[in-house]
Amino acid sequence: HDLRNEDLKDMQELGQGNGGSVKKVEHVPTGTIMAKKASITAQHFLSHLKQILRELQIMHDCNSQYIISFYGAFIFDPNICICMEFMDKGSLDGIYKKIGPIDIDVVGKVALAVLEGLTYLYDVHRIIHRDIKPSNILFNSQGHIKICDFGVSGELINSIADTFVGTSTYMSPERIQGAQYTVKSDVWSLGISLIELALGRFPFSDSSSDDSDLSDFEGTLSPSRPGPLTLPPKKSKEQKDKKKKRKSKGVSLQGGGMTMSILELLQHIVNEPAPRLTPEGRFPKEAEDFVDSCLLKDPDMRKTPKDLLQHPWVERSKSATFDLEAWASTF
Ligand code: ATP
Ligand code: MG
Repeated sequence: HDLRNEDLKDMQELGQGNGGSVKKVEHVPTGTIMAKKASITAQHFLSHLKQILRELQIMHDCNSQYIISFYGAFIFDPNICICMEFMDKGSLDGIYKKIGPIDIDVVGKVALAVLEGLTYLYDVHRIIHRDIKPSNILFNSQGHIKICDFGVSGELINSIADTFVGTSTYMSPERIQGAQYTVKSDVWSLGISLIELALGRFPFSDSSSDDSDLSDFEGTLSPSRPGPLTLPPKKSKEQKDKKKKRKSKGVSLQGGGMTMSILELLQHIVNEPAPRLTPEGRFPKEAEDFVDSCLLKDPDMRKTPKDLLQHPWVERSKSATFDLEAWASTF
């Protein structure tokens, strides 16, 4: 049956993202608890809504324990609403901000789940996720780890990306430079996310500084083009003003005397060595090696999610008996 907004009862606000808000809702006719994500639709975008809804139907066909299930989507002017499986422990960014750095054995299970999810999306549906980050990795009290918010079709994404998607600091060097997006770009984003979970903070800062200012940094700015960082020939005054405002809002990354604007950070990702799981010796060698292979700056050298499922650290996570359900009950 088709979902309708009038059948959904709001229960609780779960979070705010760049494009809109996510609420816990009850589908009253069936008693099903869902997460409803409402994103505002830009005017010029409305003409594509039919196509977008059609493409969202692809999500119906996604059937994997590592992918959030999809209940349906509808337009509730001016929003496009996507209803999905509700995950009662929320996203991994919220979890580490609450409980601190996440146990490396759990991080191993996260790596495994994300790689399985990415492999499923690509092998079965030819979908590239495009937005892997801790806020898009969800957890529930049964100990399941699932990914959400993946790009359904390239064309759709490009049109949305221009409007909604922020410039993300989980972006790979090749993506920042405007190269073709591939499954390997998701692997980079996974590497950054895993370091963030293991250290309990976003990795692009001075690791010796404990009181770094990064805890509040969302890792994303919006609205902004995720494309190449070469400036377009003409910029409207309005755009310039927006840029200025953003800068003056002081979006900067501070740590150990280092302050980076978003542009400097993106340049840093492109030009400097990739971050690593440090300090050396704190984490298992295999985990360090796995993260290093996710963060190879040359995408030709980087492996695909499917290949990385064979990595020794991931193989070990597969057979590890760590009880995620018990872990979930501790917070
Ligand atoms: P961005 O807009 O930069 O992608 P985001 O991923 O945090 O950031 P949203 O996708 O709008 O933004 O999600 C907002 C928050 O809602 C998430 O951080 C997550 O904690 C929560 N959330 C999203 N989907 C679900 C879900 N299915 N179940 C439970 N909580 C969810
Ligand atoms: Mg999200």
